[in-house]
Amino acid sequence: MKMLRVLLKNLQKGPATDPFPFGDTFTPKGLRARVRFDPAACSGCRMCEHVCAAGAIRFTESAKGLEFTLWHNSCTFCGMCEHYCVPQAIHLTEDWHLAHRQQDKYTMTEIGTVAMIECCECHKRMLPTSRQLTAIAYRGSNQMIERMSQMCPDCRRQLSAKLLSKGASL
Ligand code: SF4
Ligand code: SF4
Repeated sequence: MKMLRVLLKNLQKGPATDPFPFGDTFTPKGLRARVRFDPAACSGCRMCEHVCAAGAIRFTESAKGLEFTLWHNSCTFCGMCEHYCVPQAIHLTEDWHLAHRQQDKYTMTEIGTVAMIECCECHKRMLPTSRQLTAIAYRGSNQMIERMSQMCPDCRRQLSAKLLSKGASL
């Protein structure tokens, strides 16, 4: 009789377990999940590729620039790539909706191209320097930082030497 009462009570209360995937569920705050890449902020240092023990990140060079690919199927969501990325071009989001079929494993990717640009001084083709990194390395007006981030390392070196010889603090 007691058991029957418990059963009826539980039936009235309804399921106690999480309804997912047939209903909504919650996302714990600070969860490390889907990785997002921002090619505009990337300086092409390839540190993320170097620190990724899972081998989930690969850069390849192409005529367009540096092609970034991250395979979510291999990623362990450790967050090391984000931790070591100074210009904050790579982020782990809280989007955990990454379940996929085995045959889709090579398409669970995050891709982006760090496009080659021309140096604004000598017109040599180069990878852009991240604006955020330039702002850390040089103290100057926004205009100066913008210009420096469009320069190849040689032209940047020459300009900073010229400015320093004139007494400017960089
Ligand atoms: S995403 Fe960050 S760490 Fe990776 S290459 Fe770009 S700047 Fe470097
Ligand atoms: S979160 Fe970890 S495993 Fe995933 S790509 Fe970044 S470094 Fe690699």
